[in-house]
Amino acid sequence: MAQEDIFKKLVAHCKEYGYVFQSSEIYDGLGAVYDYGQNGVELKNNIKKYWWDSMVLLHENVVGLDSAIFMHPTIWKASGHVDAFNDPLIDNKDSKKRYRADVLIEEALAKIEAKMDKEVAKAKKRFGDAFDEQQFRETNPRVLANQEKWDALHKRFADALNDNNLEELKQIIIDQGVACPISGSKNWTDVRQFNLMFSTEMGSTAEGASTIYLRPETAQGIFVNYLNVQKTGRMKLPFGIAQIGKAFRNEIVARQFIFRMREFEQMEMQFFVKPGTELDWFEKWKETRMKWHRALGFGDENYRFHQHEKLAHYANAAVDVEYKFPFGFKEVEGIHSRTDFDLSQHQEYSGKKIQYFDPEENRSYVPFVVETSIGVDRMFLQIMAASYCEEEVENNGKVDTRVVLKLPVPLAPIKLAVMPLVKKDGLPEIAREIIDGLKFDFNCQYDEKDSIGKRYRRQDAIGTPFCVTVDHQTKDDNTITIRHRDSMEQERIPIDALRSMISEKVSFKGLFEK
Ligand code: ATP
Repeated sequence: MAQEDIFKKLVAHCKEYGYVFQSSEIYDGLGAVYDYGQNGVELKNNIKKYWWDSMVLLHENVVGLDSAIFMHPTIWKASGHVDAFNDPLIDNKDSKKRYRADVLIEEALAKIEAKMDKEVAKAKKRFGDAFDEQQFRETNPRVLANQEKWDALHKRFADALNDNNLEELKQIIIDQGVACPISGSKNWTDVRQFNLMFSTEMGSTAEGASTIYLRPETAQGIFVNYLNVQKTGRMKLPFGIAQIGKAFRNEIVARQFIFRMREFEQMEMQFFVKPGTELDWFEKWKETRMKWHRALGFGDENYRFHQHEKLAHYANAAVDVEYKFPFGFKEVEGIHSRTDFDLSQHQEYSGKKIQYFDPEENRSYVPFVVETSIGVDRMFLQIMAASYCEEEVENNGKVDTRVVLKLPVPLAPIKLAVMPLVKKDGLPEIAREIIDGLKFDFNCQYDEKDSIGKRYRRQDAIGTPFCVTVDHQTKDDNTITIRHRDSMEQERIPIDALRSMISEKVSFKGLFEK
């Protein structure tokens, strides 16, 4: 199936099974804003727990914070967001659709990359086991010609971004022959900068209202609390502050479901270090974060690091963790070495000394910062994309398709569905008793409607890893059938054995030990 079709199916699946709904749907929706349904909210909470525990519980020197969304407007002046939090936009004059100029060029780069990958895949098929991919990439003339094209375009793009050269960005789009996917035309406006922050008014007009911003990142709430946490927590460098919270960006293009939203949630950690040690810490956090992603078991080959074409105004090193989505490798998380830029700026704009007294060196300095920043929603989409499977299975001698969400067990919204075989003979009561015994430990669901086969399929589609069936034999010997989502295998076990069988598999510990 084409990757685009898979993505469409995934979006439909998210709606059908209570994962993600368009916001304000009955009013025809609001662009790039989404709501999470009964299963979505559980998955989202589990993702946040996986991140929070890995940061705060597992690192003695990382503590949490929950700062407000509204902050003093000068913070955004100091951080550079008022002046520089821009994206380059371009409009197609025929379709009147708006695009990010940098994204159009990144797509042109990805197309060249796809051509090279296609050559490699063809050769791999032809040569079989004897195939040496590296050698092929280094010697095949078609791959080399495309690599040269890619390098030249990439350099031109990086230079244009670094020089803030909007005319050159437009020229690249024209030279690459980029056409609008809606109108098919190459009739483009000039490229302009667009500030992504939402603003609103605080206070009544009588008092003199002031413009404030909805935060476009949670990080600044951490920076302005650095002194509070360091002093009250008696924190010694190096130490980190982690926060999960909403962020808002008036994104130019909003056509990729929850990949790019105008209201979204971030999980950010700012790690304060001694100046000069930041690049070592940058490497350490890169490794730690990649391990966290890979522990989910979606295949190491589907993740990669991507160096930024342009460093943000505050950074001296930056990489993205990218995942291979159905629409190509895309950023899930950013890891940035932010130098002492933010704390120094806040020191200057607030007039307060924001420093650390280093007892070993007997001097004060502004700490440097390494940041890890990941979007909850983007991680959600990554997990859904990686988990969604359509499998051919045999059903009474016929081939049937089952849709199954192979979610990592600790992240699944419902861990255990308990089903009486029939709605009588005391079986529902036993099923309820089983749930009552386990509901404080796992998220359980009672399910008695339709045939057992249909119920299994429904739970597969939600991603429930375990289904328990209570039948007449249960009344005699206190055993139930447990069915495993991925293998569809069933085994008969005593009710008493359920808890220990499931506990280990649903615990986050298994992921952390990977
Ligand atoms: P992009 O280049 O895709 O716009 P970015 O580099 O501006 O993203 P960061 O500012 O580094 O993103 O934000 C950190 C993380 O927050 C991203 O890796 C992503 O997971 C998430 N994120 C950023 N913008 C959005 C958005 N509009 N919708 C959903 N998640 C987002």
